[in-house]
Amino acid sequence: MTTRDRTAWLQGGDARCAHAPPRVGRAWRIVLLGPPGVGKGAQARLLTRALGACPLSTGDVLRTARNGRSTGPALAEALGRVARGELVPDLVMLEVVHERRQCLDCRGGFLLDGFPRTLGQAVALDAWLAASGTELDAVLDYQLDDAALVARLSGRRICPRCQAVFHLQHHPPRRAGLCDECESELVQRPDDEPAAIAVRLRAFAEATAPLTGYYRERGRLVAIPAGGAPTEILAHTLDWLAARGSRA
Ligand code: AMP
Repeated sequence: MTTRDRTAWLQGGDARCAHAPPRVGRAWRIVLLGPPGVGKGAQARLLTRALGACPLSTGDVLRTARNGRSTGPALAEALGRVARGELVPDLVMLEVVHERRQCLDCRGGFLLDGFPRTLGQAVALDAWLAASGTELDAVLDYQLDDAALVARLSGRRICPRCQAVFHLQHHPPRRAGLCDECESELVQRPDDEPAAIAVRLRAFAEATAPLTGYYRERGRLVAIPAGGAPTEILAHTLDWLAARGSRA
């Protein structure tokens, strides 16, 4: 299977995925770390195909909430922060993920993309996993310089309907401005505007980059150079995971 039904993750609450993932091989529990624009979403899609684990993006949860009709005051305030490129406060994010904790116990494993982003979130994640008798297998730390990140973010266009991602230079849609999957008009994420990009890169450097120390101390960190083609980056990752899998 190449994609996952993410209903439980995207909607939270009582929502359940229509299809439970098949029990195949090992259930990988992985965090994708790295600055905005480094390609975590693309790697999550490729890794899902390769490992079967479900891609769990907190950014997708927030964007899905924005497109929904009703949002409470805390979430409405959080969505304002998303548009400006600021981090959503830990209290809100922890509630959002806690409400979806069942996805961390999914028998297919998971690929967390965009969570944790602060030390407080990392500590909470470890506690939730420990309470279920599990732990992370790896934290993939994708690395790329700021100039390349800005180029990737400013050329990105997304489909507001099906969330497909394109890039004006590297992955243009077949018909200019229209989604290949559902033909909706592509848009630029508000947080991919130049002012918000600067805020996001600063938030990453201040709040998220220090997580590498936390995970290195716990023997979970894997540095992945993210400058090549997505398939090369994937191959590097799979080599490392295969070596780790054979040791586990
Ligand atoms: P992403 O799609 O991962 O780039 O996330 C988009 C935006 O959602 C971020 O710039 C933040 O405003 C917000 N966000 C997503 N995940 C988190 C998180 N774990 N902690 C704080 N803010 C988050």
